[in-house]
Amino acid sequence: MANDQGAMNELHWLIDMVQTIEVGLVVLDRDYHIQLWNGFMENHSGIAPNAIKGKNLFTSLPDLPAAWLKQKMESVFMLKNRTFISWEQRPCVFTFNNYRPITGRADHMYQNVTLLPLASLTGQITHISMIIYDVTDIAVNKLQLKAANQQLEHLSQTDDLTQLYNRRHWQTCLDHEYDLFSRYQGVASLVMIDIDHFKHINDTYGHVAGDKVIAHIAYQLSQSLRETDRAGRYGGEEFAVVMPNTSGADAWHFTERLRERIAESTVTFDGLTIKVTVSLGICEIGKHISSSSNWISCSDKALYEAKQTGRNRSVIYSPEAQAAPEVPVAVASPESA
Ligand code: GH3
Ligand code: MG
Ligand code: MG
Repeated sequence: MANDQGAMNELHWLIDMVQTIEVGLVVLDRDYHIQLWNGFMENHSGIAPNAIKGKNLFTSLPDLPAAWLKQKMESVFMLKNRTFISWEQRPCVFTFNNYRPITGRADHMYQNVTLLPLASLTGQITHISMIIYDVTDIAVNKLQLKAANQQLEHLSQTDDLTQLYNRRHWQTCLDHEYDLFSRYQGVASLVMIDIDHFKHINDTYGHVAGDKVIAHIAYQLSQSLRETDRAGRYGGEEFAVVMPNTSGADAWHFTERLRERIAESTVTFDGLTIKVTVSLGICEIGKHISSSSNWISCSDKALYEAKQTGRNRSVIYSPEAQAAPEVPVAVASPESA
């Protein structure tokens, strides 16, 4: 008698705990009819157990990802193994609002869900239990940390004035492209860009205007790039672009378009209109390039040549011309490169 009383108490406590625990509990039969719907589920869905018991889960809650969830449940029935659904895989299975004050920034409750096979006394899997954990705090913290890290990474790679890559990060892009060439001998070009007579702009209009010109050139450059090109602010008023899968001739077409675009544009500062041009040096990678810094210095030579021969022009570096100094050191069109 005392034993019976003890067992009754235990059962009563268990039912009480199932109803009040801060975890969602749902039991389904083989046809997805709801057999148990605890207090957590009632509180968050607004549906009382009496109103939903015996009904099909998917017709009662049409927002559920039915096909996806059924597939998971079928494998639990078949393989008799529990399955775990993480919030990172699917933020929530049940669309419940988030009422937590601390994590108020999330609209919905993030959930981890376990699907548990429930065996009958004969050992058959006749039911399945869904255990729903509210992991909104963990998810929001992790997402905020991820967003902060992405922001930090962006800041650490970006030049403030131009929003192009800063020199350090751009250099890693260049090194990477050089390494690819060393291994696979692909094609790529490097372009160095320098604003013409920039000291004059600073002296005439002031440094603030000079900064605006730098930002303007960077914007024109960024609007001309392809997805795979990597542009950085190399120095004060110098920019550099790594162009993967691009021959010197193709890079020349790019630089000429950019040069013309810049020459045709204007910068307005304090009601004054400033015209500006750039010179560009191009070097296609090849066996004559011994390192990434050598690649830069060859592009620099072409840039120097563009400056020497009148500015506002593009020049392609030519290794043959360098080997025979009596011939002009660099050329101004892709055909003669
Ligand atoms: P060139 O056509 O030969 O390039 O002539 P240049 O006057 O442009 O000569 P150079 O490229 O050597 O000029 C660089 C000048 O850019 C010197 C420096 O005062 C200025 N400068 C460098 N960084 C900045 C910057 O961040 N803002 C401003 N406003 N000026 C800068
Ligand atoms: Mg310069
Ligand atoms: Mg300059």
